[in-house]
Amino acid sequence: MAVIPRSPLLDSLDWVDYAFQPAGEPPPADGAWGHQRHSATVVFDVENTPSKSCESDGIISSGTRPVAVYTADCLPVLIADPQQRIVAAVHAGLKGTLAGVLIRAVEKLCEQGSAPENLVVAIGPALGPCCYELAEPQLAEIARNPALAHGLRWHRQQPVNGEAQRPQATARQQGVWFDLPALATQMLVDAGVPAAQIDNVGVCTYCMAESGSSYRFNTHTGSGYHSRYSWIRRR
Ligand SMILES: [Zn+2]
Repeated sequence: MAVIPRSPLLDSLDWVDYAFQPAGEPPPADGAWGHQRHSATVVFDVENTPSKSCESDGIISSGTRPVAVYTADCLPVLIADPQQRIVAAVHAGLKGTLAGVLIRAVEKLCEQGSAPENLVVAIGPALGPCCYELAEPQLAEIARNPALAHGLRWHRQQPVNGEAQRPQATARQQGVWFDLPALATQMLVDAGVPAAQIDNVGVCTYCMAESGSSYRFNTHTGSGYHSRYSWIRRR
């Protein structure tokens, strides 16, 4: 059954519409999103940007057109500024998060007059710390770059909720389990967003969301997966 999580923080803003759609549902007909490249590229003003033609992992709008990202296990992050009434949708997987896409999104919003302390953020369904097993080479890659050491604070030697939560355990047992939503939250807090203004819906695409929502689950089982569109717009 589809899990349609809501963010109490975004729900409290009467000038915003948003959705973390179930995997496989089509995006809004008038939605705008970029070619996502796991980069830190964030673009502004999609009213003047042809949809689907730019390479970006974050998209900001001051208009009423929905801005969207598509994800399977990466974080969909929706941001609203109640002061400036502008919104952003950001695609933040491990690579993009470590590249600084969330920090870039905050910077880009500030270029439009936002202040970090005013931003309201919702982190949507993503591969959770119960199921995000990193292999040693990935961990070593993070450790080699001092600028990325941030990420090392969020790994554990055991999955958070135990093996029982993992429908298909992988053959690799030497890895570590990584809390990407926690890393993203910390990076946003470090960028000046108050922790109390960041919602994490806490839905894991691997073990808690609807079937067909996880790229990694598909990798393990060959069961197929669909992208999930998450979008936000000004009313
Ligand atoms: Zn999980």
